[in-house]
Amino acid sequence: MNTPNSSCTILFENLYDNDLALKLFNNRTIVDNILRNVKGDINNRLELRLVNKSFNLAAIHVIRKENRTVVFHKFNRCDRLHKISPCPDCSVHLNSVKLNKKNIFQYARFLKQTMKIMVIKIRIEDSKRVCCMITDVHQVIHKSLIGSDYDKVEEFVGIDQISFSTCIPCEKIAANCKVFGPVQNDMFNAILRLKHHYDVLQVKDMRLYKLMILNKEDPTVVEDFINSNITCSKLTIFLMYMYEKEAFGYSLPREFLDLLIKKWNVKTVEIVPRQDQPIPYYFHCNTDFIVPKAKFYVDYWTQPRSKYTLDGVEIDLQLTKVVEQQIKNRKSLFDNFIANARRIFPSNKITVRFSKEVCQEMMSQGNVEDFISGIILMTQKDAQPNSHISLKLYPEEVDAPLIDSFLRENFEKKFDSWNLETVSDSSANLPAEKCYQFFNQSTNCKIIFYICC
Ligand SMILES: [Zn+2]
Ligand SMILES: [Zn+2]
Ligand SMILES: [Zn+2]
Ligand SMILES: [Zn+2]
Repeated sequence: MNTPNSSCTILFENLYDNDLALKLFNNRTIVDNILRNVKGDINNRLELRLVNKSFNLAAIHVIRKENRTVVFHKFNRCDRLHKISPCPDCSVHLNSVKLNKKNIFQYARFLKQTMKIMVIKIRIEDSKRVCCMITDVHQVIHKSLIGSDYDKVEEFVGIDQISFSTCIPCEKIAANCKVFGPVQNDMFNAILRLKHHYDVLQVKDMRLYKLMILNKEDPTVVEDFINSNITCSKLTIFLMYMYEKEAFGYSLPREFLDLLIKKWNVKTVEIVPRQDQPIPYYFHCNTDFIVPKAKFYVDYWTQPRSKYTLDGVEIDLQLTKVVEQQIKNRKSLFDNFIANARRIFPSNKITVRFSKEVCQEMMSQGNVEDFISGIILMTQKDAQPNSHISLKLYPEEVDAPLIDSFLRENFEKKFDSWNLETVSDSSANLPAEKCYQFFNQSTNCKIIFYICC
């Protein structure tokens, strides 16, 4: 088998004894490259470190660099009923290294104490909160990886993947970092008292509604927000729950949202439909008393336009069950989603990302022409003059050439007010990206397609 690991072993066996090998191992770039290819199993790396001193230093250097960002992902719940404790078969990845209950603490200690890593960013992805490893990950973060270095962490996202409730070490990280979220439960109490700037704060729709419900009993809840001292450049809002039984769709408590945007001096709002339950469910509390609501599914002309103007609004379309249904049935949510987002969050600049799964679903509806036309229809509803629209598409590799030829050859014929101005290619970067810039002279609007593969 020609895995990177086995090819490395062959390399060492053949070269270790001769001068060439020593020269090789004293060359930092080559050593870095070898290490970069040794992934997955920490034991391989430890063996490599024994090769010679410069190799050892290089190994430490690479491991430190790699673990400045720690991503916990690929939570893998075993099929056992967890009668055995600790369960040996559940696993999680810390960056590229697969860990289980038996070795996760040992590995984290090795990183922190032996390798002396300094973690700047922590992300926790897609645990679905089912695996027993989530509590281990939470403990490993505080006890082994961060400890008293909580003030060095700049980004801490995905905390909802491992914990429902707030904890003091989490609050300490939250109070010091620049990118944090989603804010849940009592965490707001901890950060609202601060004088602190966030580059990004994330919040779920449900949290905003829950705060409104709490405020009904105790009006100091919203007062704390009115008196808060934090500022936030970008507010990311996850749309996860349905609040209207009769009309299937997302909404937000509008007055409270307006308050946050003004009070925190928010410049950019990002909206992300997201799902962590298997089926999106109706919020069980009554939210009828909360009016007005910012609704993403209504006919856009019924939606009043907010009074403020943002620097930008970003929509990150993920394929949740709701989005999938709306694409399939061509329902009003999808027709009106972007137009509503623009009325709720007015801005001249809008960016919409169509994730790989959304592109796939939309392409499966028919051909490229339908796909692109569908997108133009969505983005041109209630179009405002002087606007700048960026559309980031992540199509299948096989579909990219079809989209390319449609944009180059047929787009202007089909949408005759638009002219293709420039096409540029940055395939040197990864992911490769092609840009197609269209201009509409009568409305002074720009649409830029970014085709990312
Ligand atoms: Zn991942
Ligand atoms: Zn298990
Ligand atoms: Zn488990
Ligand atoms: Zn915590």
